[in-house]
Amino acid sequence: MDKHQYHPETLSVRAGSEATEFGENSEALFLNSSFRFNNAAQAAARFGGTEPGNIYSRFTNPTVTMFQNKLAALEGAEQCVATSTGMSAILACVMGLCNAGDHVVASRSIFGTSVQLFGNILKRWGLEVTFVSLTNPAEWQAALTPKTKLFFVETPSNPLTEVCDIQVLANIAHQAGAYLVVDNCFCTPAIQKPLELGADIIIHSATKYIDGQGRCLGGAVLGTKALMEPVYGFLRTAGVTMSAFNAWVFLKGLETLHVRMEAHARKALELAVWLEKQPQVARVYYPGLSSHPQHALAMKQQSSGGGIVSFEIKPKAGQTAQEAAWALIDATELISITANLGDAKSTITHPATTTHSRITAEARAEAGIKDNLVRIAVGLEHVDDLKTDLRF
Ligand SMILES: *Cc1c(COP(=O)(O)O)cnc(C)c1O
Repeated sequence: MDKHQYHPETLSVRAGSEATEFGENSEALFLNSSFRFNNAAQAAARFGGTEPGNIYSRFTNPTVTMFQNKLAALEGAEQCVATSTGMSAILACVMGLCNAGDHVVASRSIFGTSVQLFGNILKRWGLEVTFVSLTNPAEWQAALTPKTKLFFVETPSNPLTEVCDIQVLANIAHQAGAYLVVDNCFCTPAIQKPLELGADIIIHSATKYIDGQGRCLGGAVLGTKALMEPVYGFLRTAGVTMSAFNAWVFLKGLETLHVRMEAHARKALELAVWLEKQPQVARVYYPGLSSHPQHALAMKQQSSGGGIVSFEIKPKAGQTAQEAAWALIDATELISITANLGDAKSTITHPATTTHSRITAEARAEAGIKDNLVRIAVGLEHVDDLKTDLRF
C-alpha cells in the first residue's frame, strides 16, 4: 500500500488489510487472548521488545492492528491506538500526555460525557480544566497558562453544529507548547482531516460513523508515533483495549465509510433545505446551509456539512417549547427516538432533556441549547420518508 498515493476511498477498502497464510480476502478475526512462542528465548525477546510480534491481546491483536493501520492511513496519522470506547480514547489521551497539575483548555460545546470526564473526574485527579467558547479564539488565548498541555475541541459541535477554525486554534496551542486535540467523530476522515489542518491529535468514537450500523462500541486516538507512545503505554497497562471482535466489525464499517458519509451528507443537506422552508421551523443548524454562521469556514475545512441537522420548532398556541419538541418526536413512526448517531437508521433526540440534561439550565441557555431544539442524525433512508415522518 506504500508504493502509490491511493485515493481515500481506496484506502478505506484496502489499507491495513493483511492476509494470513490462508490468503483470506476479508480480514480474519483473531479471537484469542494470548500468543504462543517457539521457545523461552523468543518469549523473552518479545517481552523485551527486541523482537516484534504479538504477546497478549490487551497489548496487541492482529485484527485490532489492521483496524488501527486502516484508520491511521485514512487520517494521515503515523499511529493509531484503538480503545474500548470513544470515552476511553479521551481518557487514554489525557492519562498518556498529562500529569497532575497540568492544564487543559476545552470547548464548552463538547459531548456531555466529555464535559463530565474533564470537569469532574479528571479534575479530582489534579487536572486543571478551563472551558471556553468553541468559536472565540481570544478566549483560548486568554485561558493559556504555563501548564497548558492540551486544547480539546469537537468541530462541528453537538447539537448546534458550530465550527471552529482548526488552524487558528492549533497556532495558539503551538505557540504555548500545547497540542490541539480534535474529536473528529461527527465528520470522520471522509469529510475532515484535522491533522492536515494543523491539529496534533485526533479522537474517534468508532461507535458512531466508523461502525455506521449501530453495533459495537469502540474508539481511537491518532497522532505521531512520539505522541502515541505514552497513550499506548497507558492503554496496555490500564486495559482500555478494543476487542478484536469490535475491530473486525469496524474494519467492515470503514470499507463503506466514504459511500456512507456522502449519502448521509447529501440526505442531511436535502432535509435541512426543506426544514428551512417549513413555516413551523424557527431556525435550522447545519454547516452546509448558507445561513449557517460559519458556512464558509465549514466548507473550507470539510468536504460536506455531514449528517447531523438540528432545528428549533415554533410552539403552537398553548404549547411550551418542550411540549412542541416532544410532540414532534413522539409523532414519528419511522425515525428512531434515540440519542445515538452515525447509524444507517435516522435518529431523533431532544438535546435539552437527554444528551444535555445533566448540565444546568443556565449552562444550556449559555450554550444556546433551547427547549424547542430537536436533533436529527440523518440515516440512509429515502429523504421523502423522513419528511413524511416529521408531522409538524
Ligand atoms: C459518542 C461520542 C463520544 C463517546 O464515545 P463512546 O464510544 O460512546 O464512548 C465522544 N465524542 C463524541 C463527539 C461522541 O459523539
